[in-house]
Amino acid sequence: MHSLMRRAWVEVDLGALLRNATSFAAHAGVPILPMVKADAYGLGGVRVARALDELDPWGFGVATTIEAEELRAVSITRPIVVFTPLLPGDFDAAVRARLTPALGDKSAIEQWLPTRLPWQLAIDTGMSRAGIQWNAIDSLREVLAVHPPEGVFTHFHSAERSDESRIEQERRFDEALARLPFRPSLVHAENSPAVEHRGPSRWSIARPGIFLYGVGSGNAPQIQPESVVSVRARIVETRFIDAGEGVSYGATFRAPSRRRIATLAIGYADGYRRVLGNRAQVLICGKRAPVVGVVTMDMTMVDVTDVPCEVGDVATLIGADGEDRIDVSEVARLGELSPYEVLTGLRGRLPRRYVEADE
Ligand SMILES: *Cc1c(COP(=O)(O)O)cnc(C)c1O
Repeated sequence: MHSLMRRAWVEVDLGALLRNATSFAAHAGVPILPMVKADAYGLGGVRVARALDELDPWGFGVATTIEAEELRAVSITRPIVVFTPLLPGDFDAAVRARLTPALGDKSAIEQWLPTRLPWQLAIDTGMSRAGIQWNAIDSLREVLAVHPPEGVFTHFHSAERSDESRIEQERRFDEALARLPFRPSLVHAENSPAVEHRGPSRWSIARPGIFLYGVGSGNAPQIQPESVVSVRARIVETRFIDAGEGVSYGATFRAPSRRRIATLAIGYADGYRRVLGNRAQVLICGKRAPVVGVVTMDMTMVDVTDVPCEVGDVATLIGADGEDRIDVSEVARLGELSPYEVLTGLRGRLPRRYVEADE
């Protein structure tokens, strides 16, 4: 790693990814449909899907036909479900790539029927986002009888809270399932937090996303993921500043005494958010150094007065260094973001470096 003088990069531990998928599937007790949408939450859709493909998942979940086409281009042959409703203009591409659309809108279903290809019925039980509303199934009876979907699913809005909402969504889902004019062989509902808080699955497959990528949902889950993602950047300059000197735009940090400042070659244009300035910390040589001043587009300053370091040394913004580690969740909390935003916000300017499962 150190031979490559990269300025900043994302490390993806494929071994940890596979162990997370294995432990999740074991806890769920059913096959998984890994969600690799949004470039596998920013980790790299192709590499992640190829690694997970070895575990024999039921199929993969994406948001767009383009994401699915990228997987087909690298010989992923399993079912790929497109979970965001297709626009009419996407249907041809979906047919060509043998994709499985998740549909809930009557006219979209009617448009798909002549293809005779598999599709899945999305049922809205409380997200109010996509799918036929649970109490409106009857309006689809005719089209459903013509070409039944291969699967039926819903999505929880608060699975990590284990509150009444999930019970109510399950009740609605059961009600909708009972009104279908056929018996679906494939039924699914659970995202990562749903299985973390209550395995095994009640249904035929589970749809984990963020758990695979190393982020647990907290609140006393039954299983916990290993961390998968690290974000690292090199020190490109250091300086001493006198008491009273400011750091970065707006001089929001003023040195309380003579301080040593290191500049890291990473900024908000890489996805390390501006708001983390004066809040987050990084690890350098296993020690914590606070981010001082606002994060700028391409550079971030840290106070290394107590951390012996020099130009070229690597700072860990997310991940482990020595005994200490900074989790995605810690950065998310400090940045008032969700961990999903932290991961998917990591920009393409940061090269992804994959640590193979057997390395
Ligand atoms: C993103 C998504 C998931 C996975 O959610 P996680 O919380 O990341 O596990 C599951 N199902 C659907 C429909 C999704 O859009």
